Amino acid sequence: MGFDATAFRRQFPILATEPGGRPLHYLDNAATSQMPRAVLDAVVAHETTRRANVFRGNHSLGDAATDAYDGARQSVAGHIGVSPDEVVFTSGATGALNLAAHSFGSLLESGDEIVLSRLEHHSNLIPWQLLRDRHGVMLREIPVTPEGRLDLTSLDRVVTPRCRLIALTHASNVTGAITDVAAVVAAAQAVGARVLLDGAQRAPHGGPFDVAGLGVDFYAFSGHKMYAPNGIGVLWGRHDVLAEMPPFLAGGHMIDRVRWDRASYAPPPLRFEAGTPPIAQAVGLGAAARWLKTQDWPAIRAHMDGLMTRMLDGLASLPGVRLVGPASIEHRLPVFSLTVDGREAQEVCRALDHGYGVALRSGHHCAQPLMDAFGVAGTVRASLLPYNTAEDVDAFLDGLAGVTSRAA
Ligand code: PMP
Repeated sequence: MGFDATAFRRQFPILATEPGGRPLHYLDNAATSQMPRAVLDAVVAHETTRRANVFRGNHSLGDAATDAYDGARQSVAGHIGVSPDEVVFTSGATGALNLAAHSFGSLLESGDEIVLSRLEHHSNLIPWQLLRDRHGVMLREIPVTPEGRLDLTSLDRVVTPRCRLIALTHASNVTGAITDVAAVVAAAQAVGARVLLDGAQRAPHGGPFDVAGLGVDFYAFSGHKMYAPNGIGVLWGRHDVLAEMPPFLAGGHMIDRVRWDRASYAPPPLRFEAGTPPIAQAVGLGAAARWLKTQDWPAIRAHMDGLMTRMLDGLASLPGVRLVGPASIEHRLPVFSLTVDGREAQEVCRALDHGYGVALRSGHHCAQPLMDAFGVAGTVRASLLPYNTAEDVDAFLDGLAGVTSRAA
């Protein structure tokens, strides 16, 4: 049985809308995914039948809201193969990475080293730059290869005995390259360093996956990129590591006992969830995790491999189009960055939107140091999820062919 892309796509109400009578070719998935009916329904059901604050109310509605929030944490934990008390709900991947940089970072000492890479999103760079400025830690860099992968041959040189953390993207939001986690974990273990992965791009691709089995210590991702609402994300951390970390944000819920002059804190994960959390958003993320579990992943993978091959073959046949990223489907996500000779990325995207109904993204993709490494100001980026079809890819390629023929 093959993958029924039409039936899969039908689960996403927004993709049935045809602005101006045209189909929507939504290829900006690396920025935000669309939400299936199952997730939308779960959010509406929560807001219409269980809306109340969590942990506080002495009433049945409050109990139902608390159960729903706890249930969401369990669904997310099940999805990534970890214990629920290791799942910290945050506002998104950015919130998760800032939490790690502040809280784990505060345990580091001047002269300790953190290894990052040229592939990082600003969210996994600037929080560490700020930590460096506050704390005197040193940042070291894994460079990038010409095809947009981490140059892991540098690990021997970059990871020294002073290294306390290696914080890398699990997959690049620009080039689509997937990181060889085993090599990174081996290098970290050799010097007793922790490993953090920014999974914002990897998390939406595939069904349940074994985060704990990767051998890393932290994993960050956002709900809105994996079929769930905005305003929710996760920092997973090994329980013993989280238990040693001080709070980041402070306020309600995160306490054990508060006196006028001091406070003690709740154990993780609540220690890191100050204030009223994004409850319906968490419920939506839990629903997305359960929905992902019910999908036919071997069939979806074959569908995605087909789309990636179609995309790469099509791009290779277009004169003046340069791919910034791996040219084969091995160890990459369906995230394609490119430049068009003689045309600004923004101009290309506008032309494809207006002329072909293709939604793309242009710019530096919050990865300016990577743009510097490639010597470009920005790229056009097309990114796919399983609801995309061959027609979406062809609309993009047709549009690019139109733009390049006009550029010539
Ligand atoms: N890391 C990566 C690799 C990303 O692609 C993004 C989003 N573009 C982020 C972090 C930040 O995610 P958010 O804006 O949802 O916090």
